[in-house]
This record gives sequence, structure tokens and C-alpha cells, in this order.
Amino acid sequence: MSAGKLALAATMLESARQSTDSKCSWAACGSTAEATLSRRPLCRLHFYEIASRRLAECCGRFAETLANEGERSAALTFLSEIISQTTNLAASAKYLSASQRDQFLELSMSAMDVSKRIQRYPRTEAQILVMLYRSSDPTRVCESTRTINISKRGACVETRISWDVGENVWIENSKLGRRALARTAWVTKAGATNGAMGIEILDWEDFWDLEQKFAK
Ligand SMILES: [Zn+2]
Repeated sequence: MSAGKLALAATMLESARQSTDSKCSWAACGSTAEATLSRRPLCRLHFYEIASRRLAECCGRFAETLANEGERSAALTFLSEIISQTTNLAASAKYLSASQRDQFLELSMSAMDVSKRIQRYPRTEAQILVMLYRSSDPTRVCESTRTINISKRGACVETRISWDVGENVWIENSKLGRRALARTAWVTKAGATNGAMGIEILDWEDFWDLEQKFAK
């Protein structure tokens, strides 16, 4: 082995030792780190806690309504990290109880699920005029605005008024003259002049005729 290779091997050995010896980065935890999340070493308990909380946030925003391509790829990277780390933990962590192993496998499976949903609904940048109606008053236009991007069953739209997350809303596609029942999945600062929100369309498979567009 050359000197260069030897040095490289020594470095690799050193970094392997460091990673197995490192401690959980959670404040005052001090347990041995067994996984990482966004390069943070974490013990199994804190890994589980942080990963499941962030996964829940990710699900809450709905795969269909992620704001843009960057957010979409960040979410996919994060999800694949959860999948590989949980799989690794379930397979190789020492003294893992059966219920802990099940928890990790469950986390891994939900991450895979969300990841599949995100991949199934690619986003398309499009400015389409839409009218929004509150479900409590479906005859009066609440806001006339436009989309930032769309997916088959969702949209990210500009908004200047305040909406609640989880609120039902009617969205009308002015160009196609159709209306769908939708639900707000996330909202940026309520009432901000350049606010946006993600909408999940509930009763239409392909509200914007995206499939036709791609078929052309
Ligand atoms: Zn910890």
C-alpha cells in the first residue's frame, strides 16, 4: 500500500471511530449517537423524536402542494435520509426492543409513502387566474388571484388575505370555467402583501388538465 493510501485508510478509520463514538447532539443528552439527521448525530430516542416530528410537518403540508421545485427536492432528500437511517437502525442498533424496531420500521414506511406521493405529483410553474370562495359563502368571490405553480391535485396560489390551515375553500379555474372543492394545506404569514398558500384539491383528479397538456 502506498503512503497516500495508508494515510487515507487511517483517516477513514479515524472518521469511522469518531462517528461511532460521537454523542447525541441533543442538549444535555450525552447518549451514544446511533443515527444522523441533516448531519446531526443523534441517539435513537432523539432521532425518532425529531424525525417523526419533521415527517408529520412534511405530511401536513401535503405532497401535492409543496411550494416549489427546491422545496420538493429538499423534502425528498430529507425523506430518503429518514428511510436509510431508520432501516440502518432497525437492522444494526444494539439492544433494540421489538417495539422500538417496529417504531423505526413504521417511520421508515411513512417516509416512503410521503416520498412516493411527492414523486407522483410533479409541479408545473403556471400563472392561472383563479377565484377563491370561502366554503361558508360559495356565491361571493372572496379573492381573485393567480397560481404560482400547479400539480394535478393541488396549487400554490398568491394571496393577500388571511386563511386558516385546513379551511375548506372553493377554487375556480377561470380559463376552464370549472370549480373544485379544496382545502388549504399551508399558508404563509396571514395577510402579508406577498403571501401564498398551498391548496389541495379534493374532488378533482386533474383539475388543470395537466395530463392533456403533457400528452400534446
Ligand atoms: Zn439523545
